[in-house]
Amino acid sequence: MKIRRTKFAVIAAAAALALAGCGDAGNDDSDSGDGGGFSPEVVKDASFDAGSRTQEIADAGTVKIGVKFDQPGIGFKSATSDTPVGFDPNMGKILAAKLGIPADKIEWVETISDNREPFLQNSTVDFVIASYSITDERRQVVGQAGPYYVTGQQLLVAADDDSIKGPDDLSGKKVCSVTGSTSIKTVEEEFGATPAGFDTYSECVEQLKTGSVDAVTTDGAILAGYAAEDPDKLKVVGEPFSEERYGIGYNKDAAGMCDFINSTLEGAFEDGEWEDAFDDTLGKGGIDLPEKPTLDPCP
Ligand code: GLU
Repeated sequence: MKIRRTKFAVIAAAAALALAGCGDAGNDDSDSGDGGGFSPEVVKDASFDAGSRTQEIADAGTVKIGVKFDQPGIGFKSATSDTPVGFDPNMGKILAAKLGIPADKIEWVETISDNREPFLQNSTVDFVIASYSITDERRQVVGQAGPYYVTGQQLLVAADDDSIKGPDDLSGKKVCSVTGSTSIKTVEEEFGATPAGFDTYSECVEQLKTGSVDAVTTDGAILAGYAAEDPDKLKVVGEPFSEERYGIGYNKDAAGMCDFINSTLEGAFEDGEWEDAFDDTLGKGGIDLPEKPTLDPCP
């Protein structure tokens, strides 16, 4: 498996995320009022088929998008803000804009890893954009278009811990991750760790800080955000040891969605909106802009 090596400049990220308001402050909405500085042009794509789900959403003028609320840089909503900020909400704004829907007409719904498939299957949301890796197993039950970002699984440990430097040191260690994620499966099945499953990564980070677990594992892009919030206590170690291709989830029965998402992503790669969406969030946290991913063909 080819793994893109993303450089996580975690120390620089601490200052940068604080400046960007992606961390504890999280409510970087003073500049635009819509939950972040990113505001793509709202131009409805004219090519929806009659009766397609995309046309229905465009006609309704509002869209429900599931994102994470506790992952700085990726999807984060502070207690004092109405709207989440992060790379995933920015991608949601790009999709909504192509449906003719401005950011203030998006209904943001918090998703955790374990409810992403049910939320799509029972139409609680129209899209899931929530650090949602594309997998064959998930594609059995939901649609996943993309990828729009590629990262890899890493480890977060206490800053003063020298015993864990990579996944080969995990045997017999208690490692926290999230139920329903690819991360918890990999660490248990491939590296012999004792998994501790929680609903969210922020709960795992609390467990690590109190010493109840030895490490937290998930995608490096997520861990970098937590390390940046508390660099005196936490650090990311080792190289990425999986490939996580973030996709946009949709209901498998919703006609027209995959073609719409792929053409919107292609457009955003070309016109610079994808890059702006990244620079505004993970980029401010010191993570290098990745290569533009190649999209999977629609089924
Ligand atoms: N990207 C992985 C997944 O979709 C881990 C991150 C998450 O749980 O959101 O399972």
